[in-house]
Amino acid sequence: MSRINVMKPWLGAEEVLALTEVIESGWVAQGPRVARFEMEFAQQMHVDFAVATSSCTSALHLALIVAGIGVGDEVVVPSFSFIATANAPTYVGARPVFADVDLTTGNVTAQTVAAVVSTQTRAVIIVDQGGVPVDLAPVRELCDRLDIVIIEDAACGAGSTYGGRPVGAGADIAAWSFHPRKLLTTGEGGMLTTNNEDWATRARRLREHAMSVSANDRQGRLLAVPEVYAEIGYNYRMTDLQAAVGIVQLGRLPEIVRRRRELAERYAGVIAGIPGLRAVDDPAWGTGNFQSFWIDVQPDFALDREGVLAALAVAEVSARRGIMAAHRQPAFDAWRDQNAPLPVTEYLTDHTLILPLYHDLTFADQDRVMDTLVVAASAQKRSAA
Ligand SMILES: *Cc1c(COP(=O)(O)O)cnc(C)c1O
Repeated sequence: MSRINVMKPWLGAEEVLALTEVIESGWVAQGPRVARFEMEFAQQMHVDFAVATSSCTSALHLALIVAGIGVGDEVVVPSFSFIATANAPTYVGARPVFADVDLTTGNVTAQTVAAVVSTQTRAVIIVDQGGVPVDLAPVRELCDRLDIVIIEDAACGAGSTYGGRPVGAGADIAAWSFHPRKLLTTGEGGMLTTNNEDWATRARRLREHAMSVSANDRQGRLLAVPEVYAEIGYNYRMTDLQAAVGIVQLGRLPEIVRRRRELAERYAGVIAGIPGLRAVDDPAWGTGNFQSFWIDVQPDFALDREGVLAALAVAEVSARRGIMAAHRQPAFDAWRDQNAPLPVTEYLTDHTLILPLYHDLTFADQDRVMDTLVVAASAQKRSAA
């Protein structure tokens, strides 16, 4: 019996060829391939500007800076997210204020955001958690009224749609990740997208030490213009090696999404027939990419979440506990007393788990995962044991 991993990136000979070309060209740092990746990404995500970065985390940092968020400001974020979402506001001296999430989507809603908004709130980071599109329109209505910037953490969202267009397109700024745990990968990497030209221009500079002339432009001239550093910048650049892989990956996106949705549908069909288990699903307003196929192990199920994970491990299936809750981490102890109650976040963090789902997952392997769940469902109820 071979082990089934929870996630595996889909990379092939095309990526190898693309990398070889970059190496043979002699230009491996940020250059023409990054520019092309940005152009193609912007086009595919229906936005005017895309700025490649070293990660989604650095894109979130730049997003907050260009949106003018700083010391003393509050940024509403879901606690129910990878820690980077909550970390980002602290980089600019702002305070992350945790909003609860909806039980069916795992995402913040206009109601959960409204519950924690204050006069200090300057931005909200909404997340397409696990690739489930967040319901932007009601959040937009709330934020426009209060002059709050909407940043979308679309780290998991490539290939998901909201109202018929790509997620992220309706936010003021969006941040994307190309970590191997996401649908598209460049090893490490990220992207900032926006329709605001000033913000895009500033982000482009800030990611490269806030240099007035990019290294790529200077290289193109024999007599280089002296550069000016008007503000403190960062090195958040993506390399041309990464971008070359990214361009190939972007071309694979429709096929990746098609396959993931096919596998998700197979999971959903079986799980719908198991009382006590509930699977993530498309919301009414969009389609997900099933970056994470999570199930809710409800209190009336035969085993608890840890019991299901143990049963899967015996079957050599590597599943994972669901999304974390940032507010429970020691890093956020400073604000612990100020947190509003987050009952849905805590329920989902304690009861959900992520099943294996990746492009090359075979139906046979997926059947082994589902058979294990069916057997687990018939296990003796813990309380009866
Ligand atoms: C993965 C992830 C990030 C971090 O992405 P990096 O590219 O690793 O910095 C941020 N937010 C969410 C919701 C994520 O899932």
